[in-house]
Amino acid sequence: MPAPLIDNYQRLHDNLRLSVTDRCNIRCFYCMPEKDVEFVPRAEILRFEEMERFARIAVDLGVKKIRVTGGEPLVRKDLHILVRKLVEMPGVEDVALTTNGVLLAPQAEALYDAGLRRLNIHLDTLDRARFEEITRRDELHRVLEGIDAAQRLGFGPIKINAVAVKGLVEQDIVPLAQFGRERGIEIRYIEFMPLDAQNLWDRSRVLLAENILTMLAEGIGPLDPVPDPDPRAPALEYRFRDGRGQVGFIASVSRPFCLNCNRIRLTADGKLRYCLFAIEETDVKGLLRGGAPDEEIAETIRATVRAKWLGHEINQGERFVPPPRPMYAIGG
Ligand code: SAM
Ligand code: SF4
Repeated sequence: MPAPLIDNYQRLHDNLRLSVTDRCNIRCFYCMPEKDVEFVPRAEILRFEEMERFARIAVDLGVKKIRVTGGEPLVRKDLHILVRKLVEMPGVEDVALTTNGVLLAPQAEALYDAGLRRLNIHLDTLDRARFEEITRRDELHRVLEGIDAAQRLGFGPIKINAVAVKGLVEQDIVPLAQFGRERGIEIRYIEFMPLDAQNLWDRSRVLLAENILTMLAEGIGPLDPVPDPDPRAPALEYRFRDGRGQVGFIASVSRPFCLNCNRIRLTADGKLRYCLFAIEETDVKGLLRGGAPDEEIAETIRATVRAKWLGHEINQGERFVPPPRPMYAIGG
């Protein structure tokens, strides 16, 4: 059994985020530019077999959880084929998909049949005009159809990812939580991070977890922290005291979880990253396509984990340097 992926800060890495494309069918302003998006040429995007091989090597090094993401993973044709391979891969305990939900309704059954159960669906608002303002596309109805289809088929747990931008989504915080309570879906509010393509991020535009918590308590009712949280899980989770529903916060700005980070990331064009905010990345595609043996790829993964920094420096003022790629090109 090869040595587990432990970095210089004693963090065990057992979680892989696999980005399957940098393309997307909507244009969230905090992720993508509105126009003239530069996508990686198709020939440079990893094929499913290449992703599968990389995943198998990572699993042999102790990765147990894989999240498929993008760009929008469902724009990748026949994604269910890759999902099935990952679900059936010996050693994999958990496969999840992060999607904007626009193409979920027509693909939900194939994904379910492939063995997928865990879904994170990205939805910031239930208001059609604001959805269009944020995503520059009028697709709210299709996302809602996707959620309906997923629930009908029995996916679970389903979580909703809502990006919290100050001055924009305050009105959506409570309605989303109500929607989650009615549907049995956890809403995860994600603090706006400096990963947008147009450098719009500013600390003053982050709607902080603590403010959202106050809004929920005032708008719905008291909440309590979920007892015995998993110390390695990034979300801070709270339950409504009336027993109806749960919310989570990914407070990457106000409460970074770097000290417990267990993730590595493979971009769609085959670059390995030890952090969402990493400046450097390691080329894996060249190895995959250049005939490198598994052991060489395994050593590259180990070396990348060993080189991992202690954490991002969003809160270190001038020292923070945003990564050279925006969110859609890394894989959120
Ligand atoms: N297209 C899929 C989606 O939107 O869920 C998967 C990829 S997307 C990059 C992954 C997640 O990143 C989204 O669910 C969204 O919540 C989050 N996200 C994107 N840009 C962000 C930003 N600047 N700050 C915080 N979260 C962001
Ligand atoms: Fe597309 Fe997801 Fe980025 Fe929105 S957050 S533009 S849905 S990749």
